[in-house]
Amino acid sequence: MSRYNHVLSIEGQSHLFNAYRRGLHQVDESVVFALDCLGRGEQNWDAGLAEEFRRTLIESGYVVDDEFDEHQVLLKERELIRLSEVTVALTIAPTIDCNFACPYCFEGGDKPQLRMSSATMDAVVHFARSQITEATQGLAVTWFGGEPLLGLKQIEEMTAKLKEQIVDQRHLQYNASIVTNGYGLTRKIAERLRDLGVSHAQITLDGTAEHHNRRRFRKGGDATFDRIVQNIVASRDLLNISIRVNVDSENRESFTPLVKYLYEELELHDQVRVYPAMMRDDGSETWGKAYSCMSDYTADQVALHREAVQHGVRVLHYPQAMRLYCGASKPKFWVVSPTGDLHKCWDTINDPSRAVGNVSTQRVDADGHDQWLQWSPFQHEKCRQCSMMPLCMDGCPHHAFQQGGDPQCDQWKFGLLESIEVWVQDRTQATAQQASLNPSRASTTS
Ligand code: SF4
Ligand code: SF4
Repeated sequence: MSRYNHVLSIEGQSHLFNAYRRGLHQVDESVVFALDCLGRGEQNWDAGLAEEFRRTLIESGYVVDDEFDEHQVLLKERELIRLSEVTVALTIAPTIDCNFACPYCFEGGDKPQLRMSSATMDAVVHFARSQITEATQGLAVTWFGGEPLLGLKQIEEMTAKLKEQIVDQRHLQYNASIVTNGYGLTRKIAERLRDLGVSHAQITLDGTAEHHNRRRFRKGGDATFDRIVQNIVASRDLLNISIRVNVDSENRESFTPLVKYLYEELELHDQVRVYPAMMRDDGSETWGKAYSCMSDYTADQVALHREAVQHGVRVLHYPQAMRLYCGASKPKFWVVSPTGDLHKCWDTINDPSRAVGNVSTQRVDADGHDQWLQWSPFQHEKCRQCSMMPLCMDGCPHHAFQQGGDPQCDQWKFGLLESIEVWVQDRTQATAQQASLNPSRASTTS
């Protein structure tokens, strides 16, 4: 039997869910009983089970041969992705400087105003070239900060160097994205970014104007919400925009009103994707409203999704297959600070003591790098025994290192049933809406 099966009771009906295959099947009690028998090692587990149910159990991966080693399959899939050299990924911060003064920023309030120098950019190009192998087909760049748009000149110069000296010479594909606070992302700048190969922007909002402006203000205190939203509307046809909503105990109630405002009032439903993200307590005590544990956040996230669905807003959230939690475990994934420090994780970029090398020497500290490369769910007994592994793959390595190497479970561990319940509710609602819009179709399908 698969080690990833879950029996869920949704609206009084038994459902089977398999975390590897991710199918969801409503079943009757005979199927649950048969799986129970199989779990106890009974030979005749399927005696009396209708043939169609028996077939579903096998074809949907709930029942697997004893010789089928699911760990080996997952490990192989993970390693294929982890060790792939098809894309070399660089997250580059042209500056750590920022025009905002968010009180909770993990990079601190007193950021250096430094911009990446031309010499460092040349060294980044040299380093990036050293990462290209015969198998490489593309270079993926994420512009990060601070606020990367404060280093637009550096983005322009660096893009030109990467394209001329690597992408064109090696005939690679080039793709770029940007993580920005959105304040400087006017239509003109979005056009410029698009011309520089940037196709995607991640912008953060902290809820409706009232909440956002209390937390994400400019240095000097000016509000930022209206201008960011104006920029999103103006740039939506130029860039794929996703809106991350930082959620904590202070602003969680403004998630649904924000989504309604963006999707319904501004009619951005088809053009931007809005999703909640956990504000995690980093122990700095500067904010004090963030979540210190994933189970609390998951409970609130499920409540937010439920509330959104009740308001008729679709925030689809079905478990996705996870094979590698973060690129930090890949040998061909690098984060580069404005001084040329090489990191593996976005969250360590402002801490030189966590660097694993520097482009100026082109040297990488093998031990420091190996710590990230060797992080694996298969090393941890709790993960090996875990029925959620294909949805989590042992979570964020950085957060685990902060907890002495203990893997930090992802949301599914705490809210699988509830999340799927909301998803089912959403689907039922969508089908009912479709039926009311098209009653003739509804009557033929029912
Ligand atoms: S915080 Fe975790 S998930 Fe994010 S980049 Fe760092 S290691 Fe990866
Ligand atoms: S970190 Fe937790 S949820 Fe993730 S695989 Fe390990 S035990 Fe399971």
